[in-house]
Amino acid sequence: MKWILFLGALIGSGICCQQKFRGDQVFRVNVRNGDEISKLTQLMDSNHFKLNFWKSPSNFKRPVDLLVPSINLQSVKHFLKTQGLEYSVTIDDLQDLLDIEDEEMQLNEGKERSDSNFNYGAYHSLEAIYHEMDSIAADFPKLASRVKIGQTFEKRPMYVLKFSTGGGKRRPAIWLNAGIHSREWISQATAIWTARKIASEYGNDPAVTSILKKLDIFLLPVANPDGYVYTQTQNRLWRKTRSLNPGSHCIGTDPNRNWNASFAGKGTSDNPCSEVYHGPHAHSEVEVKSVVDFIQQHGNFKCFIDLHSYSQLLMYPYGYTVKKAPDAEELDEVARRAAKALASLSGTEYEVGPTCTTVYPASGSSIDWAYDNGIKYSFTFELRDTGHYGFLLPANQIIPTAEETWLGLKTIMEHVRDNLY
Ligand SMILES: [Zn+2]
Repeated sequence: MKWILFLGALIGSGICCQQKFRGDQVFRVNVRNGDEISKLTQLMDSNHFKLNFWKSPSNFKRPVDLLVPSINLQSVKHFLKTQGLEYSVTIDDLQDLLDIEDEEMQLNEGKERSDSNFNYGAYHSLEAIYHEMDSIAADFPKLASRVKIGQTFEKRPMYVLKFSTGGGKRRPAIWLNAGIHSREWISQATAIWTARKIASEYGNDPAVTSILKKLDIFLLPVANPDGYVYTQTQNRLWRKTRSLNPGSHCIGTDPNRNWNASFAGKGTSDNPCSEVYHGPHAHSEVEVKSVVDFIQQHGNFKCFIDLHSYSQLLMYPYGYTVKKAPDAEELDEVARRAAKALASLSGTEYEVGPTCTTVYPASGSSIDWAYDNGIKYSFTFELRDTGHYGFLLPANQIIPTAEETWLGLKTIMEHVRDNLY
């Protein structure tokens, strides 16, 4: 009995069962033609060598990043060589990066416990992020409030921060979304930084003040809370939700393939073990359904921005078709200005374009759903970096990333302010 309690405590504290990635490497494969793309696509679909594709095969210009388990290093190298695929090693031992990240987080947690200051330059637990949302609401009671929009598959609350200067319930609004893919930690960290920024710039930065005079902002920093907790307790590289799939031993749905926008179309899988499993039906994931219900009940959203990582891209609809969106020209123009503003801080370069032709087809995504439901200004950011650290972006890049992203976000929000429809 004592042992069971002890084990339970260890699992609860998150130090018991984190999956180790000792000796695992990340390979970057340079893709030069369609034949190489199809070879890599086959490799991905076969689940051979137990590879985890960090960057899926897309087009000639874009390399493919794959995580190779240490036990399969030799066979994967052999396979790539015999197929004539050119690769380099971008991460030499994944566990080294994970150990550093973990140590930094624990150090910071200890510090925050003693001085009770939220350090925006560190990664945090779900609990700490939720607590900070409360603090922001308490520090700016006239502007910000924490609103519960639903609860997750594992019964965790889902919170958004609402920023409003009045103007009634259905004031035109902006939705900022982050962390729908749980392993993309820079997105949740950027979102919570952005929340504090919005609140503290109101009344100081004329752009923010004027945006909030006309629009409400709703910010969901952790759109996949179960997945986020799982990345901190079990597997740092978990992407999907944590819902059960009857008849399969595999868990979770890709919450960014689960929206009702060409559901189950191109760029998704009907295999529950796939990283892009679309789920049993559109909005099957309660985390997605909660956002859909909230946005539909509100009925006056004008802008939807989804933060992901990594690749440094700013994209707009569509993901499910190569067809041009009716507003593609305007969206492209805004996105280019936003990317330019973002780059102006420290030169971080973003590529701009529609999802489908910039990276790959992706059906059932959040921004396509938003766009098809009348939210014209719909964008996806893929934040830093381009693959040097991938999903394991060091914490010392959180604030630089958030600061530059803010300039891009502000550009978009100002455009929305000036073009209300
Ligand atoms: Zn993502």
